[in-house]
Amino acid sequence: MACVEFSFHVPGLEELAGVLQKGLKDNFADVQVSVVDCPDLTKEPFSFPAKGICGRTRIADVGGVPYLFPVVKQEKVYDLNKVAKEIKLPGAFILGAGAGPFQTLGFNSEFMPVIQTESEHKPPVNGSYFACINPVDGGCLLEKYSEKYHDFGCALMVNLFASDGQPGKIIEVKAKRRTGELNFVTCMRETLEKYYGDKPVGMGGTFIIQKGKVKTHIMPSEFSSCPLNTDEDVNKWLHFYEMNAPLVCLPVFVSRDPGLDLRLEHTHCFSHHGEGGHYHYDTTPDIVEYVGYFLPAELLYRIDQPKETHLVGR
Ligand SMILES: [Zn+2]
Repeated sequence: MACVEFSFHVPGLEELAGVLQKGLKDNFADVQVSVVDCPDLTKEPFSFPAKGICGRTRIADVGGVPYLFPVVKQEKVYDLNKVAKEIKLPGAFILGAGAGPFQTLGFNSEFMPVIQTESEHKPPVNGSYFACINPVDGGCLLEKYSEKYHDFGCALMVNLFASDGQPGKIIEVKAKRRTGELNFVTCMRETLEKYYGDKPVGMGGTFIIQKGKVKTHIMPSEFSSCPLNTDEDVNKWLHFYEMNAPLVCLPVFVSRDPGLDLRLEHTHCFSHHGEGGHYHYDTTPDIVEYVGYFLPAELLYRIDQPKETHLVGR
């Protein structure tokens, strides 16, 4: 499978914290960005299979939206244990956002990968979730993947933040009360784009929406039988929801595309109250509260980049 490696610009954590503090202040009333020890992510509400997000950080952008629109390419299926080897990090701890493995599930879904991939020393652990539309009432149906399935698949497109899963220093971002138009992730991404310009910076990790509500979407379980050619077509096909905090989010973002047809930001979320999906923005700016743990990625891997591309549905 085609795989291109790119080295990100990797600012120091203190510098990055300062840049984010300044940028987020334009969009949130109360902002506190600092360099701290990563909290133990094996604890609630994360319950991840790794303690942290530190060590040999990477971003992988696998496949792409052109494999879903205008018509689905059903041969585009991936194994995340193999992806970990492609990014030269077998045993990587990965978090991210992508399309669920229809090849196993038998239907399309939103996927929240949380995986300790296989290594020589340890068997893999799949802590992923998937969300689909409840056929009974049209609501959200969120399930833990490993309760019924035992593979490490995903499909069509996936954006991943990978690391050794170690504890260590990270950037903690606290932001309360949104005063600007940008969502939490877009605000951080555009701040980096403004400050670092043509030196692409990639980041990922996890954040919690502690208070408020969030606009999300879930893709239908059936792929569209007619081609979806415009954003309008795509928005008619997707189902939109307003979901409740607390939500655990898995963000991956890149300040600027170095010419690899990247998805610049992609965030999925899950919860312990049955809701999860693709994060758009909070709908309760007056009460929203975010707290997140982030690191810059050292390397970017572009895997199975679509040869024919477009900007629909991003
Ligand atoms: Zn998504």
